[in-house]
Amino acid sequence: MTGSTHPRKSTKKPATKRPLVPAPVPAPPPVSDEAKAALAWLHAMRFLTTASKLEQLPQGDLPEVAFVGRSNAGKSSAINTLAQQRQLAFASKTPGRTQHINLFAAGPREAPEVYFADLPGYGYAAVARGKKLVWQKVMADYLAVRRALAGVVMMVDSRHGFTALDLQLLEFVAQRVKTGEVKLLVLLTKSDKLNRSEGAQALAAAQEALAELATEDADVGVTLFSSLNRTGLADVAEALRGWIPAAAPVDEEGEGVRPQA
Ligand code: GDP
Repeated sequence: MTGSTHPRKSTKKPATKRPLVPAPVPAPPPVSDEAKAALAWLHAMRFLTTASKLEQLPQGDLPEVAFVGRSNAGKSSAINTLAQQRQLAFASKTPGRTQHINLFAAGPREAPEVYFADLPGYGYAAVARGKKLVWQKVMADYLAVRRALAGVVMMVDSRHGFTALDLQLLEFVAQRVKTGEVKLLVLLTKSDKLNRSEGAQALAAAQEALAELATEDADVGVTLFSSLNRTGLADVAEALRGWIPAAAPVDEEGEGVRPQA
């Protein structure tokens, strides 16, 4: 008899973490020069630090854009897709690992222009109630009072639309969105799973849900997004770059120009 049934010590290297979205990724549609510049800007995104308390976040004037979403909404995949990097954001489903704010920076290394804050996914069933409440408070505080907060990108699964938890989270920042102090962009994720009419319905339903926030002063947007086929990627990149004045200065003719490196 050949072979053995005894477990043998594996000589294989530990598996490297697999990308969150399965290949293959079709070539994205052609994009404008502005979109290319915005994508290059986002591509320079790099990990900065992890904070488990708000006090650990950097103080200063750099604008901050927060990514929020229900656990499994596709937030980590969206961040990786926006940064065009495979493993920048991880979706660790292990309780404890999920409850941190991960900060990324973009812009020139010596002079970052923006921080991106990956807030913990909410609604994860296995997190104990007490911990959930603590984190709900941290998120509420962050969204309501973080001075540097310039924008919020909320990931919502396009097949499900806003859940009660999503709406609750929006409440925390609603006042600042209405005055235009904080911009809001909702990505209806995994849109590759919807056909054209389902996509249109999802958009219409989301717009209706956001109508109350969309005052004259507010900057509220919603778009279909897919990390799998990159739907919405160029538009979202441009929108985010447009939120950060230092990233897209305007020349005398009113054209956006990139700062010289
Ligand atoms: P997170 O918990 O919000 O960070 O979500 P993940 O990014 O980990 O995604 C959750 C699941 O949805 C994973 O199985 C992903 O592969 C899948 N997923 C994420 N984005 C997409 C997408 O655009 N299309 C499809 N079809 N699946 C996606």
